Amino acid sequence: MFKKILVANRGEIAQRVMAACREMGIATVAVYSEADKTALHTRNADESVFIGASEPAQSYLNVERIIDAAKQTGAEAVHPGYGFLAENAVFAQACLDNGVVFIGPPAQAIRDFGNKTVARKMMLDGGVPVVPGMTEPDLDPGRVAVHADQIGYPVLVKAAAGGGGKGMRIVKTPGELAAALASAASEAKAAFGDGSVYLEKYITNPRHVEIQVLADSHGNIIHLFERECSIQRRHQKIIEETPSTAVTDDLRRQMGEAAVRAAATAGYVNAGTVEFILDEDGRFYFLEANTRLQVEHPITEMITGIDIVRRQIEIAAGLPLDLRQEDVTARGHAIECRIYAEDPANGFFPSPGKIRYLKEPSGPGIRNDGGVYQGFTVPVEYDPILSKLVVHAETRDAAIDRMKKALAGYTVVGIKTPTQFLSDIIDSQPFREGKTLTSFIDTYFSSWQPAAPDKALATLAFIADDLAVKRVSSSVAEGPAEIPLPWQTLGHWRL
Ligand code: ADP
Ligand code: ADP
Ligand code: MG
Repeated sequence: MFKKILVANRGEIAQRVMAACREMGIATVAVYSEADKTALHTRNADESVFIGASEPAQSYLNVERIIDAAKQTGAEAVHPGYGFLAENAVFAQACLDNGVVFIGPPAQAIRDFGNKTVARKMMLDGGVPVVPGMTEPDLDPGRVAVHADQIGYPVLVKAAAGGGGKGMRIVKTPGELAAALASAASEAKAAFGDGSVYLEKYITNPRHVEIQVLADSHGNIIHLFERECSIQRRHQKIIEETPSTAVTDDLRRQMGEAAVRAAATAGYVNAGTVEFILDEDGRFYFLEANTRLQVEHPITEMITGIDIVRRQIEIAAGLPLDLRQEDVTARGHAIECRIYAEDPANGFFPSPGKIRYLKEPSGPGIRNDGGVYQGFTVPVEYDPILSKLVVHAETRDAAIDRMKKALAGYTVVGIKTPTQFLSDIIDSQPFREGKTLTSFIDTYFSSWQPAAPDKALATLAFIADDLAVKRVSSSVAEGPAEIPLPWQTLGHWRL
């Protein structure tokens, strides 16, 4: 087993990976940028290496700096987390070339799955159902219009290199097609440096259901059931749960087998996720594969009891999986809410800044994978995720109730978070009934506003806080010689 691992990431995911390392007795190396000098991951690692300026290109995306840091500290392996270099084939190859183990799949599998049209072709060859549509990118509006007619409207323009919900446009009528192609292409060019786009049939009223797979380097591949990730804003997940309310035992088996087939076809090794879109009639289609740890991996860990990060490390170290498919069982229901620094009442606009007060929930069945602390300034440069709040309970209803309590116990002052929004969603009738389609937020929560704050309560809290501060400062300033005032002698009872 490795003795030292470098974690090429930041925030909550760096914390999560380092926790697994600590449990396994592996020393950790953090890398950090200018903005992260006092970040939690920088402080908590056994060693930390400064890698450059705050802009990701100078630091967390700087392949050379990160490889140098691994060599300099003697780290034998690198865990990329998610985002940044996690799905970068050049980085995976550079690790290999420099004698550092990349904790993830082979560079070729990253490359093949990283391009949606290449992946679609590969999956068709492997007998995995894909969403009807094109298998070659094309920018020519005339030719694409012919494809659109064949596929049938509505269609979805997608960036071949896309990720994080970027570069996607729904096209309902032929007249909108040319403009959608151009704008998706320019968004993709800016975000991924690759403006190629293609068309997929737009599946109406679908769900996003994905399957977690584990593949070792000895040819063993298993799946760890599904995650339903249909609650999305801007095509990006914010609430995930498992099991899915739409997946029967039979469908689970079919989707699991398709995911294992997808991994086998790609020569996949390590943990990965095969994303499917599930239509109203229970048909499922390959959407894409994410060749990395997924943000929502904890819900799978909660119901299966399998530590996915530990498995990633073991697989990268060449160990065979000691689990067969029939060994994997699930218990209860798990839900994850992503806590971002963002304003749900204002288009989910990021809300970075200083955290003045922070209280994170804990309790039976509650797991908070956090990456910040009170006093930390959430940088503007990076994805503003603060933590993944996860609950596990015996039933779905109990998990919802537990999540409501956990969200109510999550207090952040100084920046905006969507805790109230998330709570209102999970407690809503349609969510309780399991009507979780990808259109959920648009259908039920598009004009959501927070309930008016309780001004009386806020005023009382302010007065109590103000008095407490005065009491502390006067006792510090005047010491025991202070003449007791009747108001002060009432002490904490008055507060
Ligand atoms: P998941 O599929 O795990 O829910 P997302 O697609 O929401 O993941 O992305 C996870 C993280 O990776 C986010 O921080 C997102 O901004 C980032 N990300 C996703 N795709 C890319 C990409 N192609 N380039 C850079 N960052 C990406
Ligand atoms: P990304 O790489 O950005 O994660 P995905 O292909 O996984 O892109 O799609 C992200 C989300 O967009 C899906 O979870 C789903 O909500 C929606 N989506 C993608 N393709 C389709 C489609 N063909 N029909 C309907 N919705 C889709
Ligand atoms: Mg996706």
